Order: sequence, then structure tokens, then C-alpha cells
Amino acid sequence: MAEKKELTCINCPLGCALTVTIDQNEITVTGNTCPRGEAYGKKEVTDPTRIVTSTVPVDGGDIARVPVKTASDIPKGKIFAVMESIHAVRVQAPVHIGDVVVKDAAGTGVDVVAARDVSVA
Ligand code: SF4
Repeated sequence: MAEKKELTCINCPLGCALTVTIDQNEITVTGNTCPRGEAYGKKEVTDPTRIVTSTVPVDGGDIARVPVKTASDIPKGKIFAVMESIHAVRVQAPVHIGDVVVKDAAGTGVDVVAARDVSVA
């Protein structure tokens, strides 16, 4: 019997309401306005992933916290472990966009990197 999931596409502000139907080995997506919605719907039911964003405290910087994000998508099930690894670090100014803040976060093989520059105060 076919299983249906209702999702909202998160790839652009239009937020199309997707219906993903899983029938044995066949996955079909309806409600998408463009191909990105179809790809998102299929991935969300087979291999859901997310970019994780947060902030990290900066010592000696002109701002107190620097925004950080995973350099690419990580498996959805690893989000909490990655957040914990982010919460465990502090960085020292100066910080440059793209600096690695956490290497191989929670064993995902993905680094957490700074999303902006922070100058010395
Ligand atoms: S399906 Fe396409 S148009 Fe609709 S929200 Fe996703 S990316 Fe945007």
C-alpha cells in the first residue's frame, strides 16, 4: 500500500506544499513548482539532511559571537550531536569567514565554519 507524506519545500520562499508518495520502490512528488521541490521531496524521505547554523563565543573580538554553519548538509539524525560540538567551542579573534571552528563535527566528515569575519576589538 502506498504511503503519503505531506511536506513543505524549504528551498525557496514560495514554500510549495509537497505530497510525496512512496509505493514500494517508487517515490513520486506532486505539488512542486520546480525540479528542486521534487529533488527535495525525494531526498527528505530517503536521506534527510540539513545545514546546521549557530553562533560561537569570540574572545577579544569586536562582536561577542560569530555566526557559524556546517560547510555542507549533514544527516538530520546528527543535528543534536553537531550542535553539542558547536556549543563546546570558543574562538579567539580575529576570525575569518570560512575558518574551521569544529573539524569533522560529530564524525560527520563535515566541518563547521565561520560565516563572517570578526576583527580584534
Ligand atoms: S518546489 Fe521550487 S518553487 Fe516550490 S518552494 Fe521548492 S524550490 Fe521553491
